[in-house]
Amino acid sequence: MCTSHYIITLSKSRDTCLPQVNYDPNDLADVDNPESNNGRPRTALLHDLTISCKTISTNKARYRCGMTGCLQSWSGKRQAGRIYKHILDECKCVDDAIRKQVGDAFIDRSLHTQLEATEEDSSLEKMSKAEAKKARALKINQAVLNLICGTGIPPTIVDTDEWKNVMSTIDNSVVTYGSTSFVDTYIPGEAAQITEEKIRMLSKLKNLTISYDGGTTKAVESIYTIHVTTPRRRQAYLIEGNEASGVSHSGPQIAEELFKVLYILCCETSVSRYVGIKY
Ligand SMILES: [Zn+2]
Repeated sequence: MCTSHYIITLSKSRDTCLPQVNYDPNDLADVDNPESNNGRPRTALLHDLTISCKTISTNKARYRCGMTGCLQSWSGKRQAGRIYKHILDECKCVDDAIRKQVGDAFIDRSLHTQLEATEEDSSLEKMSKAEAKKARALKINQAVLNLICGTGIPPTIVDTDEWKNVMSTIDNSVVTYGSTSFVDTYIPGEAAQITEEKIRMLSKLKNLTISYDGGTTKAVESIYTIHVTTPRRRQAYLIEGNEASGVSHSGPQIAEELFKVLYILCCETSVSRYVGIKY
């Protein structure tokens, strides 16, 4: 499976975050974090990343991005997928340390990681019925994720009655996740995991080439991509993909994006590993 399909979902619309805030920030007032009333433990990272607030005009509870300078907010309960995706893909006010922390948290939630943990626990023969059912459901959902990313079909196909009919005909004990779960949580988690894996591999090589390209999708979205190519086999890895419609990319802005990738790959050893830059 081509890693590009996963990795390109990692970083979308980072440049267009601020104009697209969900709610008027002037109508929000911060409140103390209300105590959980159902006894469930809070996810510390989610509460570190967000701040509880309420609308001044209607007194409705919301929560907002906790990064200084960011104006984004949401209604309802804190959803990890939504918050992590904002921090990784959209938020312009987040630093590299928090991005890394959120990336790791996303990887922990990925189907891949859950499946590996299940397989490490025991062989399929030794599993209890419930564990085996969970492992089978994870495998099937991972296969569905691969299908969506590998073919480019719309993730909403999994919400259709026709899809549900196919699945129940194959195995009526397994339910596949909804498109929102794939889009907000599992695909970005897979992208973060694959990107981290490839960066780890590339950071051990020398004489790499970094290249930048821009283009337009069928949906008329402007995108740019940054690839790193290995010296011997000339294998290109997509490390950064960003949808940047309506944003003019000047030389300094392109250089800034390139330097981010250069820095990621060189930071472990402080050694330059590149021989070429292609644009
Ligand atoms: Zn933000």
